Amino acid sequence: MGKTPRRQPVPSNLFSFSRLKAYSQCPLRYRYRYLKGMKEAFKSIEAFLGSVVHEVLEWMYRRRFEGAPPALDEVLDELARRWQASWTDDIAIVRLGVSADDVYRQGREMLTGFFHNVFLSDRSTTIALEQRMSARISEDVTFTGFADRVGRTEQGRLFVVDYKTSSREGDASDFSEGLQAPLYAVSAMDHNGDATCLAGYHYLRFGSTNWRKVDRKTGEVLQNRFRRLAEEALAASEFPPKPGILCAWCGFNRICPAAEVPESLSGGRFPVARQ
Ligand code: SF4
Repeated sequence: MGKTPRRQPVPSNLFSFSRLKAYSQCPLRYRYRYLKGMKEAFKSIEAFLGSVVHEVLEWMYRRRFEGAPPALDEVLDELARRWQASWTDDIAIVRLGVSADDVYRQGREMLTGFFHNVFLSDRSTTIALEQRMSARISEDVTFTGFADRVGRTEQGRLFVVDYKTSSREGDASDFSEGLQAPLYAVSAMDHNGDATCLAGYHYLRFGSTNWRKVDRKTGEVLQNRFRRLAEEALAASEFPPKPGILCAWCGFNRICPAAEVPESLSGGRFPVARQ
């Protein structure tokens, strides 16, 4: 096994939702990745699918913004092109028995459903795509992230929407989903001078969107929650492993002494033995 490559540790005060989520899910993974700057040994095919589908959605709305909305066959060609161009050897198929073609087909189905059920009838206007959002929440904590799409409804209401390729629909009680889009909404309000903003998640596998209205008061409560969680991570001096089902998707599972990976999900752990 080769040495795990190193990157620069993430600046200590810069918190994305992924960073907070990593701390909450497994402090040891958080330490490897954000404090020691280590690169995960593989990327799961689910994460790869998510990033390629996001790229295609961004491309679709950019084309529409430029006055040339794509037809479905162009959308699917774009998916094929990006899937092939972005594929790298460190992508792991964690679930044994699943093929890359199976996952690629899921991407086609999600984009086809989105095209027919949302894109064709979407009359909203786009303000920004993949926009960096950041806000200094306290002396020690700055939150940062990218909002998938910021726009206005036909009625002129400001919204922020985040696209999800996850295999289940989340809700506001989920760790990041209670915070992520709503905090992006606070940044969008600051940026556009609105008093309220709709924060939504669109679940591509289910064709559903959950919306939540965010105002200044809710925004303050959410920022305080984010700050408290980030300060807890900043103050931590111990980073115990929290083994569980997510070990199978953790890119440190080849070096972590506590990793628990069942055989049926070992595609990321033992890629060399399976070749
Ligand atoms: S393999 Fe499991 S216990 Fe180890 S760092 Fe990753 S998530 Fe944590």
